[in-house]
Amino acid sequence: MKTIYLDNASSTQLDKKVLEAMTSCFGVYGNPSSLHSYGREAKILLENARKNIANILHVDKQTIFFTSSATEANNWIINNIINNGVKYVITSKLEHPSVLNPIEPSMEGFLIKDSSIHNNEKQDFESFPSFKEEYLTKRNHIHTTYLNTTALGIIDYNHLEDTLRKNKRNNTFVSLMHANNEIGNISDIKLIGDLCKKYGALFHSDTAQTIGHYDLNLNDVNIDFCVCSAHKFHGPKGIGFLYARESTNLLPYILGGKQETALRGGTENISGIIGMAKALEISYDNLKQDREYIISLKYNLITKLKNNIEGIEFNGSSGSLNPDKNLYNLVNIKIPTSIPIDMLLLKLDMLGIAVSAGSACSSGTINESHVLKTIRNDLTMPSLRVSLSKYNTIEEIDYFVTSLKSSISILL
Ligand code: PLP
Repeated sequence: MKTIYLDNASSTQLDKKVLEAMTSCFGVYGNPSSLHSYGREAKILLENARKNIANILHVDKQTIFFTSSATEANNWIINNIINNGVKYVITSKLEHPSVLNPIEPSMEGFLIKDSSIHNNEKQDFESFPSFKEEYLTKRNHIHTTYLNTTALGIIDYNHLEDTLRKNKRNNTFVSLMHANNEIGNISDIKLIGDLCKKYGALFHSDTAQTIGHYDLNLNDVNIDFCVCSAHKFHGPKGIGFLYARESTNLLPYILGGKQETALRGGTENISGIIGMAKALEISYDNLKQDREYIISLKYNLITKLKNNIEGIEFNGSSGSLNPDKNLYNLVNIKIPTSIPIDMLLLKLDMLGIAVSAGSACSSGTINESHVLKTIRNDLTMPSLRVSLSKYNTIEEIDYFVTSLKSSISILL
């Protein structure tokens, strides 16, 4: 059976050249912290990868701290600011759970154990009273403002400036993502960075969906912290990094050895780091042509959906073909009839098509999307997130549209 992967915002296919780079370094098995030649060989690979990543983003290599994921990097920085005297947090309800939950654990979807995996009762924050107490006590002194957002998912920048102005003398931390993983809207991080600088606030941006897809000169933007996840741009899973402009702002996150300047202990994932650096290099070497190709796929997808399925709409601004407004590889489709989303996903899966119901990051089960809940009043119509990559083809788009149309009519 034909299989078609249209869930690239969730994770991407490993590039063959990345696999080759990773395979070739498996032979280097010394510990980069060891002083002998084996260790030094590994250390050279590690530091070269850090330098190459830093060069691509136009920053100093000391600003890059390897982590296991973007989730870890977001948690690191948010725990850091909570323990480091920040009193005021400004964010939005559209952020990824790896930002929302560390800021305010009672926010949407904080699930400690996933019942579908552990086969036990669904356990949430309330099931762990001592953990809850410790977590909340640490956050007692923090006041959080969630910025207003429009129906298109756009941040209200006036609200941001007003809030920053009012808290000028407080230690303020702003966390606003660059691109939303569900509806794809892009925030103006240059403007946000300038406002944060003007009012003396620290600015963190979750850039997990844009690093590897957008030209980012971190020197040009007043951004203090951002994050990366290699598996979003044809790199391996389980590896990412935190960028911190001033490492003096950082408290240690994992205590152990002296790795990552003693801020994050643990022997480094050399093959993952090599794979991430290679994936980033390939992405930026081919950025322009891959982007043009993927935009042509998005254009085809939107046009064919509109021509074939009456009443089809797009959530947020994901129907836009302007890559500066919305991710060029993502469309979030609002299905015009109230059919059950799990049945629709199953039907498409049976036809070999992989798409997502919303955000797949925390999935396994389908939860109501906190992002769609924030921007839409009515969630009776189901939504599908289709996300594209350089490996998709026009034929796949055609097959998807035909299959979606037939699946909707069968389920009606
Ligand atoms: N932030 C955003 C915007 C994401 O889309 C994701 C994953 O989908 C993450 C963070 C988490 O990334 P990771 O899979 O590296 O933990």
